[in-house]
Amino acid sequence: MGKVTGFLDYTRKNNPAQAPLDRIEHWKEFHPMLTEADRRQQGARCMDCGVPFCQSGVKLGGSYTGCPLHNLVPEWNDLLYTGNLAQALERLHKANNFPEFTGRVCPALCEAACVCGLHGAPVTVKDNELGIVEEGFAQGLIQPRVPAHRTGKRIAIVGSGPAGLAAADQLNQRGHSVTVFERDDRIGGLLMYGIPSMKLEKKYVKRRVELLEAEGITFVTGVDVGKDKSAQELLAEYDAVLLCTGARQARDITVPGREAKGVHLAMEYLTATGKSYLNSKLKDGNYINAAGKDVIVVGGGDTGSDCIGVALRHGCKSVHQLVKYPRLPDRRPADNCWPEWPKVNKNDYSHDEAIARFGEDPRIFQTTVKELLTDEKGELRAVKTIRLEGTKRDKKTGKLIMTEVPGTEEELPCQLLLVAIGFQGPESYVAQAFGVETDARTNLKTVDYATSVAGVFAAGDARRGQSLVVWAIQEGRAAAREVDRYLMGYTSL
Ligand SMILES: Cc1cc2nc3c(=O)[nH]c(=O)nc-3n(C[C@H](O)[C@H](O)[C@H](O)COP(=O)(O)OP(=O)(O)OC[C@H]3O[C@@H](n4cnc5c(N)ncnc54)[C@H](O)[C@@H]3O)c2cc1C
Ligand code: SF4
Repeated sequence: MGKVTGFLDYTRKNNPAQAPLDRIEHWKEFHPMLTEADRRQQGARCMDCGVPFCQSGVKLGGSYTGCPLHNLVPEWNDLLYTGNLAQALERLHKANNFPEFTGRVCPALCEAACVCGLHGAPVTVKDNELGIVEEGFAQGLIQPRVPAHRTGKRIAIVGSGPAGLAAADQLNQRGHSVTVFERDDRIGGLLMYGIPSMKLEKKYVKRRVELLEAEGITFVTGVDVGKDKSAQELLAEYDAVLLCTGARQARDITVPGREAKGVHLAMEYLTATGKSYLNSKLKDGNYINAAGKDVIVVGGGDTGSDCIGVALRHGCKSVHQLVKYPRLPDRRPADNCWPEWPKVNKNDYSHDEAIARFGEDPRIFQTTVKELLTDEKGELRAVKTIRLEGTKRDKKTGKLIMTEVPGTEEELPCQLLLVAIGFQGPESYVAQAFGVETDARTNLKTVDYATSVAGVFAAGDARRGQSLVVWAIQEGRAAAREVDRYLMGYTSL
């Protein structure tokens, strides 16, 4: 611990954010970095606790808290403070293959568990992580590491999201020959098409993919495994197969009027904008445009928030988000104490933007869609909503069971409705092609990441259900260990 009184001497300083009304005018990230001196001071706030909860990644009170990757947070905070960038980078990469992604999009489970946060502001762990890795790239410290020896084992990874990429990195560094198959035209999974560019600019995904390519990983795009290339071909050509195909089976609404023109799944909306922006800066018009429209997003999660951010950048006339559950309290309730994940109301970036643009929180809590109303051409013109109340909890999950309150219907004008109510699990054709078993939630069923078919493994959202980038990286690393053990009889990963 370099600075024993750091947490007393320095207050928390986040990376600044561009003002909401300015940033909705563009599609770039809007958090400029702190200066190097400021960043080092933030590193000095870390107390190097005897029991650093920040890196625990444990389930407490029903939610995970602390870093799922067990990132060596106190170590690299100290190295950051003392100015040992190369060593800080080395310790950061030890547990996290892609800190430039988590440093941008992770909800920072570490900070929720930081001891400094018990009575004050937690250490800026996420910003520090990003600061270290970006400075490492800027100083040319991150160069291709080509493995000295090859084992002769060939591995196919299906899907190039963070799980597939993390597994590919680990297995390639071990000396195996790795080919990643991706059905889309660009590598990166939801990092590329899903998470909008203002949260993660795609040049950073490309930069890492180019590095992995230079290290010996082969990437094949435009190949849909199970359709363009059969499972049998893959199993014949490779010694092991790892399925990292994500959980892309979207949940849909089933209300009257669902067939109206102007109703889209969130991923259709986000992906089309992301692709069009990358291909032509939106000039090709190949996207669903919210400009001038009253937009309603159904679903209170992160995907819904991203839809708001994108709709604002398109220039929507208004935007609302229907959230099924009640608003969370502003402060932790007594039964949700530190270091549990705080179950409190938080504004996502796009909520702040909507408030700045329209003067009100876009969220309408305890409300859902009852019916979609169309004009004579079948185009959506309004949404009939209904209030919900929760009186009982589900015995298994503890979640509130929300029921409709009769007589509370309202009509909101709407020409674009975006459905962001989550994902059911992976698409079934990959599991069917390989003949692997699925679990009750339709996720790929595994024991130690091995599916029911010998030599076929699974990781990421396809295995655990729609989750987070940090979990996908963790899954990719853990699955790589099991693939290595299967191929070599032991593992050094
Ligand atoms: C809109 C949105 C925003 C999000 N924002 C955040 C965020 O801010 N922070 C965060 O931590 N998490 C976020 N997430 C969640 C996070 O992106 C995912 O948990 C993570 O990307 C899962 O990684 P994965 O590798 O398992 O799957 P994915 O990223 O889904 O990648 C799977 C890949 O497999 C490919 N594929 C599927 N089937 C085949 C096949 N048969 N053949 C070839 N390729 C195939 C797909 O095309 C895709 O590229 C967000 C998710 C969404 C939808
Ligand atoms: S990956 Fe996420 S949880 Fe882990 S240290 Fe980084 S920001 Fe924190």
